[in-house]
Amino acid sequence: MKPNPADTALRTDMMEGRLVLDGFLGDDERPIPEIVWEDEAQLAALGLTVQDLSKVMRALTRKGMEGYGEPVAEGEYTVVTQEYMGFMGCPFKDNRRAAKRNTTVTNQQGEQFIWSDLSLHLIEAHGFFQGKGSVYRLEPVPLARFLNLSQPVVSQE
Ligand SMILES: [Zn+2]
Repeated sequence: MKPNPADTALRTDMMEGRLVLDGFLGDDERPIPEIVWEDEAQLAALGLTVQDLSKVMRALTRKGMEGYGEPVAEGEYTVVTQEYMGFMGCPFKDNRRAAKRNTTVTNQQGEQFIWSDLSLHLIEAHGFFQGKGSVYRLEPVPLARFLNLSQPVVSQE
């Protein structure tokens, strides 16, 4: 695929050290629209959209904020939000910025997902779960299962 200039500029901004230390892309060399499309396609195969996930994630973050850093129970989950000083700008340059807030969600099996407000915005507004190899990437299908939005695949054995 021939990269278009806008995508190239966006990639450069997202590369390690430009906007945030660890970058958004990891070692993923696919064009950003392709990353977005492939993740969306995986969710579509489960009958889900990006919004199905981000809605539940945002609700969990809001719930966690009620605890001001202390764990909050929400259904089968325990949610903790931690806030830090400052904001992070969206790398898609839509003039959106997100509070530096992390949401840690743990289920009763001890499985855990962590997202920042910026990660949540990237998913919600851009369908971008970040590149493979990025420490902040959220794998959409395991995340959907974790959020009880899809049933586990039944083994054929
Ligand atoms: Zn944005």
